[in-house]
Amino acid sequence: MSEVTVEQLAADVGATVERLLTQMKEAGLEHEKPDQVVTDEEKQQLLAFLKRSHGESADEPAQITLKRKRLSTLKMTGTQGRNKTVNVEVRKKRTYIKRGALEEVAPQPEEAAPEAPVEEGTSPETVAETAADTAVESATPAQPEPVSEPSEEKPKKIIPDLPPAPAPDAPGGEHAHRRGPKGAHEKQKERDEARPKRPGAVRRERDKGAKWQKDLDPLSSSSRVGPGFDQPVSVRRGTVTRTKVLSKVMGQDKHGFARPTAPTVREVEVPESIQVGELAQRLSVKSGEVIKTLMKMGVMATVNQSIDQDTAVLAVEELGHKAVQAAPQSVEDTLAVVRPAEAEAAGEPRAPVVTVMGHVDHGKTSLLDYIRKSRVATGEAGGITQHIGAYRVKTEKGEITFLDTPGHAAFTAMRARGAKCTDIVILVVAADDGVMPQTEEAILHARAAGVPLVVAINKIDREDADPERVRNELSQREVISEDWGGDTQFLHVSAHTGQGVEELLDAIVLQSELLELKAPVEGPAQGVVIESRVDKGRGPVATLLVQGGALNRGDVILAGACFGRVRAMQDEDGQQIQSAGPSTPVEILGLNGCPEAGDDVLVVEDERKAREVADFRNTRDRSEKMAQQAGAKMDPFAMLAAGEKRVLNIVLKADVRGSLEALQSAINDISTDEAEAVIVTSGVGGISETDASLAHASGAVIFGFNVRAEAGARKLIEKEGLDLRYYSVIYDILDDVKKMLEGMLDPEIREEIIGTAEVRDVFRSPKYGNIAGCMVIEGNVKRNQPIRVLRDDVVIYEGELESLRRFKEDVGEVRNGMECGIGVKNYNDVKPGDKIEVYRSVEVARTLGD
Ligand code: GDP
Ligand code: MG
Repeated sequence: MSEVTVEQLAADVGATVERLLTQMKEAGLEHEKPDQVVTDEEKQQLLAFLKRSHGESADEPAQITLKRKRLSTLKMTGTQGRNKTVNVEVRKKRTYIKRGALEEVAPQPEEAAPEAPVEEGTSPETVAETAADTAVESATPAQPEPVSEPSEEKPKKIIPDLPPAPAPDAPGGEHAHRRGPKGAHEKQKERDEARPKRPGAVRRERDKGAKWQKDLDPLSSSSRVGPGFDQPVSVRRGTVTRTKVLSKVMGQDKHGFARPTAPTVREVEVPESIQVGELAQRLSVKSGEVIKTLMKMGVMATVNQSIDQDTAVLAVEELGHKAVQAAPQSVEDTLAVVRPAEAEAAGEPRAPVVTVMGHVDHGKTSLLDYIRKSRVATGEAGGITQHIGAYRVKTEKGEITFLDTPGHAAFTAMRARGAKCTDIVILVVAADDGVMPQTEEAILHARAAGVPLVVAINKIDREDADPERVRNELSQREVISEDWGGDTQFLHVSAHTGQGVEELLDAIVLQSELLELKAPVEGPAQGVVIESRVDKGRGPVATLLVQGGALNRGDVILAGACFGRVRAMQDEDGQQIQSAGPSTPVEILGLNGCPEAGDDVLVVEDERKAREVADFRNTRDRSEKMAQQAGAKMDPFAMLAAGEKRVLNIVLKADVRGSLEALQSAINDISTDEAEAVIVTSGVGGISETDASLAHASGAVIFGFNVRAEAGARKLIEKEGLDLRYYSVIYDILDDVKKMLEGMLDPEIREEIIGTAEVRDVFRSPKYGNIAGCMVIEGNVKRNQPIRVLRDDVVIYEGELESLRRFKEDVGEVRNGMECGIGVKNYNDVKPGDKIEVYRSVEVARTLGD
């Protein structure tokens, strides 16, 4: 490396000798004359000084520029020795050039340099890629560009023109500068300055490049020369070094960031319904993970909640595992169930379960009454049996379990279910009335269920009794009496006189002996739901018929879509019992909801299993119901479009499930092609505000069967003028629905509640029995009007007042806000919190029909 004089250096740089000397002085060099020799070391020192004082700037031959202007002040010593401060605009540029271009430049700098600049259009990706590949990316040192006139060009020149010292800059730049102010670099620079800033993407790519460089610098530090340079000594050397290092690092990169091991993909069997915790366990992940995943999918579930198969499969896949859908029903299959058929072989003889069927008013209830020696019929609203009851009757011949299914057509659904858990059907036919539609239905049901019939021709005591006619009519339906060569026992009975009842019981026992009815006495119980309702104090109450095994208190049972532990169990007489064997009807507490009449009941070993199956069934039922409701809501529109069809929307609430189901099916049966009754929503319990608002939204009439509207609902009904009707006789609802559909009856309230009193306390009076100390909370309570006793908005008794007193005086009427003592005739079960409502039947303007 040759040494130059100050003069030569100044010429090379294109600056005046004085200016150069000044700068050298500032840099701490002692040169004073133009002919003094500047060594390589001194050049470095000068360069370092300039760099320090001006900060970094970029200066390079080709392409792309990230230009950043920075204004600073520079203290300068003028030619006359005066100090002055000038503003310096520092422009930072970074350039990345293609390796190809660079290599061309290096060996043949003179020709290559002008081509080095990469066109503006070159995509940043190409540049970045190239850089990543093998080539150079170099952020060049700062290039000061003083705006002050005197130093305009000099500093620019100094840096590149410090040959043959290790070039601080890219060769392109170096050479370009060597070739003079009109070099490619200059042109590029001009272009750069005229160019608007590059878009962000470019900048980012470049920043990335810069980052690599930064990362690489320590690795290439061996190629550094002296302090003050943050660039390698020679670009060519630097390039090579860096290329190697870069590719090495890139290679390492690949390995370094690869996952340590392949993720374990588990294959998980997903049943139709699975608890979140259980799923997590199968996946060997924390349940929180599963919950989080579900949340991302928009499903909120807790550890103990069950999710359906579809959701579970999605969650499993989301977690990167493989889901295998378990075969349908496998949930239920996992239950250890002793099927009655299998059990029967090993079982012991059991009492027959008998269902009484027949047309309405043919005397079913009366007959059962007589048999039970109790008077159920008198307490019944409208004289119709409304709920399924179940009773065991001890006769001299043995025990018989009776299911008292109501005879009205509305109970078709329940009756069909009743037949399923029945061994024998007693078909009651009134001797004076003969075979009627429901008689025929009963025959069909019994036949469908494969249950033998025993015909009881009732009301034989009546003068107009004509048993031969009944015999005849029945034979036409292929129910042929033994005396006529058939296989059906016929008996003449009277529920009033008791005539023939003993023979009827004998016939039942005989029939059951023929059936050889057996059931296991021990082992887990299996049975069927007869009835269920919610009791506000006690929760869900279900009447079950144990069909096999022993149901014990404390057993975990699954009943349809409900489950629970049997908390309390009583027999038909209300006696608490610990265990119930085959053919025993019991009332139990402890279920988590109301199962449907006819639902299977199973004792399950494991509460978790019970919950899983119940949850699964629930989900299934819910989606079915939603589909149904969506259909119901859509229908009215369809019908309006059709124009002709008359649609009656109904919100139906009932006191117990049995009545509800019966009403639903009966109402659905009423619908014809011209007119349709659509149950918008239905349920067990009082009429809630939700029910009322739904009725309002869908223009529905609200039917309360033995239930009342809650306070909130009443307000809404009043405000919106909704049509609310209370009923206690199923006939009446069906009649009204028919009439509404026929357009004969415009919606009107038929019953007017005059007043309501709330029971605060109950006293025992020697003269009147139980007296309810009441507060009149609505309207006026009148003595000579029919009343109902309500508990939790459900009618529990209908009748009349025995007494109405205020301060020991009999009164005819007690007004709102006053206290009174009320005695209900023939009813002693009034409790504090009950309501006594006094009502009056209002004449409805029926212009057509009746
Ligand atoms: P259900 O609708 O089939 O339950 O019939 P009920 O038991 O409610 O009886 C209907 C009506 O028939 C009631 O008025 C009974 O008093 C009457 N009844 C029932 N059985 C007899 C009977 O054997 N003889 C007479 N004369 N009347 C009866
Ligand atoms: Mg009845």
